[in-house]
Amino acid sequence: MPLPSASQTVAAGAQDAQQVDVAVVGAGFAGLYLLIRLRRAGFTAVALDTSDDVGGTWYWNRYPGARCDIQTTDYSYTFDPELESAWQWSEKYATQPEILRYLGFVADRYDLRRDIRFGTKVLTATWDEAAQRWLLTTDNGKSVSCRYYIMASGCLSAPKPPEIDGVGDFKGEIYFTGRWPHDGVELAGKRVAVIGTGSSGVQSIPKIAEQAAHLTVFQRTPNFAFPAHNGPSPADRVAALEKDRADYRAQARLSLTGVPLERATEFSWQLSDAERRQRFEKALAAGDLVAMLSQLWADQGGDLEGNALASDLLRERIRSIVKDPETAEALTPRDHPFGSKRPCLETNYYATFNRPNVTLVNLRQEPIQAITASGIKTDRRSVDLDVIVFATGFDAMTGAITAVHPIMGRDGKSLSDAWANGPRTYLGLTAAGFPNLFMITGPGSPSVFSNMVVSIEQHADWVVDRLVAMREAGFTAIEATEAAQDGWARHMADASQLTLHRLANTWYTGANVPGKAPGLMPYPGGVGPYRTICDEVVSRGMLGFTLSGPNGAAQCNDGEVVRLQPDVRLVLNMLADLNLPPLESFGAEGARGFVAQFNATRPAGRPVGEVLDGTLAGADGPLPYRLYRPATRAGEKGGPHPIVVYFHGGGWVLGDEQSDDPFCRDMCRRSGMIFVSVGYRHAPEHRFPAAAEDGYAALRWIGEHAAELGGRPGPLLVAGWSAGGNIAAVTCQLARDRGGPEVAGQLLVNPVTDCTFDRPSYNDNATGYFLTRSLMWWFWDLYCSPADRTDPRVSPLRGKLEGLPAAFVATCEFDPLRDEGIAYAEALAAAGVPVEQLQARGHFHSSFTMVDVVATGVDGRTKMAEALRRFAEVEEAMPKAAE
Ligand code: NAP
Repeated sequence: MPLPSASQTVAAGAQDAQQVDVAVVGAGFAGLYLLIRLRRAGFTAVALDTSDDVGGTWYWNRYPGARCDIQTTDYSYTFDPELESAWQWSEKYATQPEILRYLGFVADRYDLRRDIRFGTKVLTATWDEAAQRWLLTTDNGKSVSCRYYIMASGCLSAPKPPEIDGVGDFKGEIYFTGRWPHDGVELAGKRVAVIGTGSSGVQSIPKIAEQAAHLTVFQRTPNFAFPAHNGPSPADRVAALEKDRADYRAQARLSLTGVPLERATEFSWQLSDAERRQRFEKALAAGDLVAMLSQLWADQGGDLEGNALASDLLRERIRSIVKDPETAEALTPRDHPFGSKRPCLETNYYATFNRPNVTLVNLRQEPIQAITASGIKTDRRSVDLDVIVFATGFDAMTGAITAVHPIMGRDGKSLSDAWANGPRTYLGLTAAGFPNLFMITGPGSPSVFSNMVVSIEQHADWVVDRLVAMREAGFTAIEATEAAQDGWARHMADASQLTLHRLANTWYTGANVPGKAPGLMPYPGGVGPYRTICDEVVSRGMLGFTLSGPNGAAQCNDGEVVRLQPDVRLVLNMLADLNLPPLESFGAEGARGFVAQFNATRPAGRPVGEVLDGTLAGADGPLPYRLYRPATRAGEKGGPHPIVVYFHGGGWVLGDEQSDDPFCRDMCRRSGMIFVSVGYRHAPEHRFPAAAEDGYAALRWIGEHAAELGGRPGPLLVAGWSAGGNIAAVTCQLARDRGGPEVAGQLLVNPVTDCTFDRPSYNDNATGYFLTRSLMWWFWDLYCSPADRTDPRVSPLRGKLEGLPAAFVATCEFDPLRDEGIAYAEALAAAGVPVEQLQARGHFHSSFTMVDVVATGVDGRTKMAEALRRFAEVEEAMPKAAE
């Protein structure tokens, strides 16, 4: 007899099953809100939870000292103003019992328990292709047949196994912070160990120390921690909320973290030591995770130098509290940048190590060998114990989704297999191959990088709204496409470049679980930007999803929702919101004024050794220049440095020797070279070939005065951006043809190389990416009459290319000039010139020059600096600060 197919088996199981539209796993913050929304939208729903009451994470984590670390003003549901006024939190950071009471209150108020099956574990979840439904088998009662399956199972709910030999041999008591007994644990008079110093350890250690006869803390990695200053909710926060609750919540939803706090805009190098300390003390006094992570200075989260300044202040504080210097040093984090690992809010944590009944064991110096019958044995000692507390964390983000039960999607493929190399999702909400499966705050969404309640509400709203829309349109199945999912993975990787998370081994990256595939799991691009992306998916016709239904209803609008680099997207959205008239409509003078005004608002460039203004001899009179000299660091030679002759951008019409100031500073620091930015003459006052001839004259003058400028003897380098890239390319051709000076290499960043507008990038990127096709028309018209445009002094692509210096040509995907840059690089290579190309994905015309705004441009500038150093045959390592 033939065996039944998987589909037949599922179909048979489904007959006796509880039939609902939607099944939800979990009855915590996410599960409860989903039930409310689903019920209001007219869907039948059931939530399944292994616990015997609501609460999710707050049901299980009952260890001493457990509290939230986002202020209760923000760590609350926001969907119902009446609920908000019906509940009063007693403290700034509520205890676990109070949060649990709150969730119980919510469950009662909306009568949710009748739709929750407690004490019920899902054993398997299988997609039935024929029925277009999920079948869930359970360990308690009926199976569940549902159209949609939603994992609201939490990000930190699957505790990590102990991973230490001999746990079974221990004769005393063992507890996990994440599974703490409900009737408490008697610790008085006992010898207790806590293993782990993450948030759970940092919260529980002071409380356990107060009770235990002796507490031994086994620490593998110290974490950054700073005071919670718990107490009543701060008056200013409460006042801000009460002044206009709806506005406060709206701001939270569009903020980066889900808490509406202004972020610092000044960079660390714009503040004095005293100003930085003042900001630090203010954040310290606030006792707020988000404040400390975002309000010190703008470069604290994404730049190692800016971060080190914050880390040092936090380290200093540890030394000021912990009396024993060796213990203080052991508690001091040195292996990861501040914020790259989840920092902890502490109450008496460091002071606890001054107590006579507390010992710190530094596992970096004496690893645990085994747990024995009587206690814990390290390389150096045996500690006799009555109780061991594991505060060792969770199989975060994916554990509760894949490790808890097999989820079998289309064609019998399991989610664990699909994620064998790390979670792959579209928006952190769905996964290709798993129709009608949703994850609330899943990997690939902001989740644990945010105020979870805000992110939960956004996800639940998005999902339920989609289900309603599908019902109205007659669709019964939704699935992410592979292309959309791949695009999201790229966007995740791009966004992670803006943070320092990649530099730490943490549960964010799966590094805490042996064998887990590495990779940043939460979305680091921020709550607000993420929300707009989810909304854009909808407004663009469910981009990246296949929708299908009975009678052949089908729709697939495939594609990637974000192709721009994350910061480029923000800049372009901001510019679009300003709704500016076209630059060319201002006229040349007006446009110059506009650019000067715009430049005045950008972050000041970083300090270099020296900035000097001077005058050089141009083709027809003196020209201003600005020279940037690298700083000399300890152990480095103080020059002479190679000289780069630099030409600014601005379409031969706008800008001056100072207008690319941040770029020149950054490149000066990265390359360790002198940059001389030339104030060449502009059109329309000085039309072609004034700029080109000035470029060449400046090169000659700088060559002749290299020694006076502190430059290294020998060949010069030439660089330029946009129209400046055009002048740089032309200058190299003129130097070759007119007998020097010798040029060792040319750096052409988004250069204009040819007068034709026929290449595809001129059409693909004609508008919407700041530099427009029409603006380029205007520039050409002002600079050069049609009869002159094919002259190689303005269209260098049409010149002779043999014998030119080695080149590095950078182009950007979303730039009208992209294809002519690539064409120039290819033509140079065909002419035998050594060429390196950087085709920057997701970038626009200004990506590299908007230093400290488009932070994803760093990688490209690093490559440019390396190329300059190769051209100049500089052998020493890159200057340290620029790494
Ligand atoms: P965690 O941050 O992952 O910390 C686990 C600790 O155990 C780390 O110090 C880790 O050291 C150590 N550890 C793990 N395995 C070990 C082993 N085999 N031997 C020795 N040490 C080991 O976990 P958590 O403290 O439970 O916190 C997880 C997250 O939950 C937090 O980051 C936070 O987001 C959330 N949470 C929040 C609160 C709150 O304040 N609301 C409270 C608790 C938790 P390594 O660092 O070397 O791996």
